[in-house]
Amino acid sequence: METIIIEKCPLCNQKHEYSLEVDRSIIMKMLTPNDLYERERPYRVRRIFSCPTVKEKFEATVTLYDSSSNRINAVGTSTKIKNNNG
Ligand SMILES: [Zn+2]
Repeated sequence: METIIIEKCPLCNQKHEYSLEVDRSIIMKMLTPNDLYERERPYRVRRIFSCPTVKEKFEATVTLYDSSSNRINAVGTSTKIKNNNG
């Protein structure tokens, strides 16, 4: 599970934290000088989130990051609230 932060909920304008299942492959390899400067790549997913304040659902795109040694294979479809008190 990884933590997703919605900085500004479209329904209540508050910040919420969610957990999302992310399947990653950690690839062990010899580091080359290039790897040390490798930028992580944004990996965008669109998911349905449920606002704990107004108790309604909204859709948002969140950005996860992966790199050549930490590859995202799949991202789960369901999100759940990590903590309710914002
Ligand atoms: Zn909200």
